[in-house]
Amino acid sequence: MIFTLPALILDKSQAKEIDLLVYLLTPKGKICAVAKGAQKSKKRFLNLLEDLTYVRAHLRKPQKGKGLILEGVDLIYLPESPRRDLKKFYFFSYIAETLTYTYPPFLRGEDFLFIVRFIEELDRSEISMQEKFFWDFKWLQICGLKPHLERCLSCGDSPRKIFYFSIPRGGILCHNCKEDSAKYLTFNQIDLLRKVVRIKTLEDLREAMSRVTLEEIKGVSSLMKQFFLFHFNWEPKSLKVMEESYALG
Ligand SMILES: [Zn+2]
Repeated sequence: MIFTLPALILDKSQAKEIDLLVYLLTPKGKICAVAKGAQKSKKRFLNLLEDLTYVRAHLRKPQKGKGLILEGVDLIYLPESPRRDLKKFYFFSYIAETLTYTYPPFLRGEDFLFIVRFIEELDRSEISMQEKFFWDFKWLQICGLKPHLERCLSCGDSPRKIFYFSIPRGGILCHNCKEDSAKYLTFNQIDLLRKVVRIKTLEDLREAMSRVTLEEIKGVSSLMKQFFLFHFNWEPKSLKVMEESYALG
């Protein structure tokens, strides 16, 4: 049986002899397929098996055996900027790594489209740490790990002016319930985090961030990074080198 799915290339590794094992993200979830002869015949795949290339994947399920065969791919979108911009290259590796090693229990079609559009928008944009903050937040949200931002997790009140945030508890605490390790957040920071829940594009993110100071943005970026590391309980290998590339400007 042959079928076709839109897919993002996540990773590839050598399989036996001249084959490649290709990891793909599709609207139906993550799959792994064998590209026969791909190590030898580059022609059939035309170097389209790079991280986060968006393709139409032609797959075959053999009558015998369990695995899937990747018969071929047609290009839909090839991110160009990671090939000439090292900072982008590291960020794209970070996204591909996150998509490979963490995963929601169920991926919705609209989440798949969000990821595809985000990658295209990122490819066309100048980037800074804001985009990483956005990615960390949205991926946590897709994975069902979004922080609780409306009510105090201890007493259920809705704080109006003073907010604390507990990473292990996963959200906000009011002044009365705050714990020693909880971080103080300004109203602007809480307001920004609440908006990001609904924001779907980098353009809208920049609009929302234009009303927040750089210090406040740094604060929420660092908070979401720690939130990500704590709740996934996993550190991407590409994180350090990406952060170093940002520090260099
Ligand atoms: Zn409380």
